[in-house]
Amino acid sequence: MRIGILGDIHANVEALSAVVDALRRERVDTWVQVGDIVGYGPEPSACIDIVRELGCITCLGNHDAAVLGLLDTSYFNNFARAAIHWTSPRLRPQDLEFLRSLQLVVRTPTFTVVHGTLSLPEQFGYVISAVEAIESLDQQETRLCFVGHSHVPAIYLRRRDQPNEIHMVNHAEAEISYRGFDQVLMNVGSVGQPRDEDPRAAYGLVDTDLEVACVKRVHYDIAGVQRKIRAAGLPDVLANRLGLGV
Ligand code: ZN
Repeated sequence: MRIGILGDIHANVEALSAVVDALRRERVDTWVQVGDIVGYGPEPSACIDIVRELGCITCLGNHDAAVLGLLDTSYFNNFARAAIHWTSPRLRPQDLEFLRSLQLVVRTPTFTVVHGTLSLPEQFGYVISAVEAIESLDQQETRLCFVGHSHVPAIYLRRRDQPNEIHMVNHAEAEISYRGFDQVLMNVGSVGQPRDEDPRAAYGLVDTDLEVACVKRVHYDIAGVQRKIRAAGLPDVLANRLGLGV
C-alpha cells in the first residue's frame, strides 16, 4: 500500500493542488487527511471538495470543530479566531454536513488517524517532542499513526521492548526505513501553513510494503494565495506568515 497523507490544509487550495499533483505522480493508492481542512485560508469549500473527491480517510481537526461551533475558540489566538468567524458563514450546507460527519479518531487495520494526539484526542494536544509522542504511542494499537496540528513534520519510532526509547527524525524532508520498529507516529507537517521555517507545502508518503516513511515538500504559488487572503479581508498576518513558513 502506498499512502499519501495530507494535513492542516487550512483552506489553501494552491498548496493542496500542488501536493495532490505530487502525490499522484507517486502512484498513491490510499489517501489520508489528518484534519484542519479549513481555517486561516480563503478557500475552505474548494479544499473540502478536493478532499472528498480524493476519498481521503479523514479525522476532525480543531479548526474544523471550531467552525461547527463544537469547540470554544477562546484559547485560539486573535487571528485564528478571526479566520473561524470569517469561515463559518461562508461554508455551504454540504460542507458543514461533511465536517459534522468526521470523527476525532479513525482506525483502519493498518493505521490510525488523529489530528493532535491519541492521548485525550478531544483536547487537541500537540506532539512536539518525545514526551508527548510516548503518551500518544501508549494509546496506539496499529503500527502506523498519522497526526498533524503542530504544522511541523516529525517521525517518532519505537520498539515494543524499549518503551521509553524514541527515535525521532524531524527534518523538513525525510525518507526513513521503519523496518524493525513496532510503532511509527508520523506528524506529516502542514499542506497549507507550514511552521518549520520552510514555506513549501509539506505532506507524507508511506509505502507499507517497503516499510518506508517520507516527509516531502513541494513549491506552490504562495503569492497567489497571499493575494486571495488579502482580498478576502482576512488578517494580513495570515498572508505574510506563508511567505516565511511560520
Ligand atoms: Zn492546523
